[in-house]
Amino acid sequence: MKAGGSVKKIGVLALQGDFAEHMATLRRLDALAFPVRLPRELEGVNGLIIPGGESTTMAKLMTDFGLMAPLRKLCKQGLAVMGTCAGMVLLAKNITDTSDANITPLGVMDIDVKRNAFGRQVDSFETDLEVAAIGEPAFHSVFIRAPFIQRIGNGVTVLARLPDDTCVAARQGNMIALAFHPELTDDARLHSYFLTLVNGGGKK
Ligand code: GLN
Repeated sequence: MKAGGSVKKIGVLALQGDFAEHMATLRRLDALAFPVRLPRELEGVNGLIIPGGESTTMAKLMTDFGLMAPLRKLCKQGLAVMGTCAGMVLLAKNITDTSDANITPLGVMDIDVKRNAFGRQVDSFETDLEVAAIGEPAFHSVFIRAPFIQRIGNGVTVLARLPDDTCVAARQGNMIALAFHPELTDDARLHSYFLTLVNGGGKK
């Protein structure tokens, strides 16, 4: 653990999904990772990760636990936030869906996201993605019933596209959205990149 004020306190939304894997990766990077389930647990966080899981369930629990309003406020105030897979869905302004699931997302990133955009569970896949923000080599990416980004608003930068141009990673200021699961591989470069945004570092 790094000494004194340099320790980054990163909350990981732990209502559902693979929050434990994110915490393990953050700890490998010497961040102080802890689970967030209640609004008061957001006090003093320097950054927040919203993990993969089931966005319908997570959105419902976030509403029930009173997390929506405080999270929206913190994002607007510049908290560093990374949403992966279902977490990306929750950051989006608009969700387009093939099912009739009705989700109210946080709506803090000016992107429109399509849920389950690559088909059913059997259509999950892995691929190596070029991500200029972290350099070479390509990032081995695990897509599990993943969403993709259908519309990018003003001030949003594309971080990665599939070979067919589908946008699967983006950044808007202090916020990062990834359609895949960087916590499921040993490569911690995207978590490191996220940590550069914490405390206002890593300007676009
Ligand atoms: N399909 C899920 C959803 O839209 C996301 C899956 C995942 O996070 N791996 O909520």
